[in-house]
Amino acid sequence: MKTRGIALLGATGSVGASTLDVIARHPGRYRVEAVAAQRNVAAMADLCRRFRPRLAALLDADAAAALARLVADEGLPVDVQAGAAGLEAVATSEGADTVLAAIVGAAGLRPTLAAARAGKRILLANKEALVVGGRLFLEAARVGGATLLPVDSEHNAVFQCLPPGYAGDPRAAGIRRILLTASGGPLRQRPLHTLASVTPAEACAHPNWSMGRKISVDSATMMNKGLEVIEAQRLFGVPAGDIDVVIHPQSVVHSLVEYVDGSMLAQLGHPDMRTPIAHALAWPERIDAGTPALDLVARASLDFEAPDHARFPCLGLAYQALEAGDHASIALNAANEVAVAAFLDGRAPFTAIADTVAAALDALPPRRIGSLDDALLCDEEARGHAYARLGLPRASHPALAA
Ligand code: NAD
Ligand code: MG
Repeated sequence: MKTRGIALLGATGSVGASTLDVIARHPGRYRVEAVAAQRNVAAMADLCRRFRPRLAALLDADAAAALARLVADEGLPVDVQAGAAGLEAVATSEGADTVLAAIVGAAGLRPTLAAARAGKRILLANKEALVVGGRLFLEAARVGGATLLPVDSEHNAVFQCLPPGYAGDPRAAGIRRILLTASGGPLRQRPLHTLASVTPAEACAHPNWSMGRKISVDSATMMNKGLEVIEAQRLFGVPAGDIDVVIHPQSVVHSLVEYVDGSMLAQLGHPDMRTPIAHALAWPERIDAGTPALDLVARASLDFEAPDHARFPCLGLAYQALEAGDHASIALNAANEVAVAAFLDGRAPFTAIADTVAAALDALPPRRIGSLDDALLCDEEARGHAYARLGLPRASHPALAA
């Protein structure tokens, strides 16, 4: 069997770690060719020692210089690059036919777009890149001859429940609707009047999944599910009105597809990202993900309930944005990124997140998004609005620094 070269964007993160765990289980099948992250020198140096990629890139120039010194001192055969160009070099590296896109936030758009243009097989975890890149990203993938495989557990589940060769026409495939499951996060039962005092530690204490801090907060607000509704609309061509969300606290059913004949297909598994990652890595084959078998008898019961929109206003805001157009999805994501970062830094209360996003959606006028520059300008405007609303000085954002 030919060894597949893998490029890993966001290699030092939670999805990055799960991916490396799966890859390490199949040394003859996969080789880590190139890795990229933001600035964590120690974690990157460790990856270079363990996996010996040909190329390692850090966005931060000082961090990249420190990594280059370490790698040279230890005599490791790794080329170290810096900045946006370094990330793109990883995304397009010749020895990798597969790119795992796991940078967090809109910052992942540029390198993931580069991978799309280069015709890579893209395993997409970075949902924000698809929310911001939208049609432009899908078009770049089509023109570049790239294959998109969803890693986000819900979308991976939907993908597994769709007919083979599904080409984006839900009617032709007899699809009635998509049901995305959501755990409801750590605040599902918290008294509503105490939401303003939720701390970052409480918001990040997810009952089922262990994830990076930004997506953990998104799960607590359910903005994560909102972004996933937009992601599902983009990936599967299903209208927003035919994508529903159901709360399923156990996170065992990862999503469902309902067909016109009344059949509902679901994918089940432990809440462990190694399963969707292994599925996307090996597709259309199957490989061991390192997860234990799911014991349904021990699990005993699975519960489902409707989401409470008063508790989770971000979910409704995402549907509203999807309805309003591409500019609104970009603004939704940008304002959310700013507000979540402010919340995690202790500069804004938890309830300011939904408030900031709603205000940005109201304030930004509709605009046509015909190019990447249009998308980035819209992203930048929404960020500016969010900083002003939060009363914070405007910070530069790596997504726009390139
Ligand atoms: P994380 O915070 O653990 O890791 C983020 C990674 O991105 C790190 O390697 C970091 O160095 C890198 N990064 C951050 N900003 C960057 C920048 N500007 N340039 C280059 N690299 C940058 O996040 P995570 O939980 O692994 O999530 C990654 C993505 O996958 C997110 O889009 C998230 O929504 C999605 N996702 C995560 C999970 C999960 O279980 N963690 C599940 C589904 C989808
Ligand atoms: Mg998900």
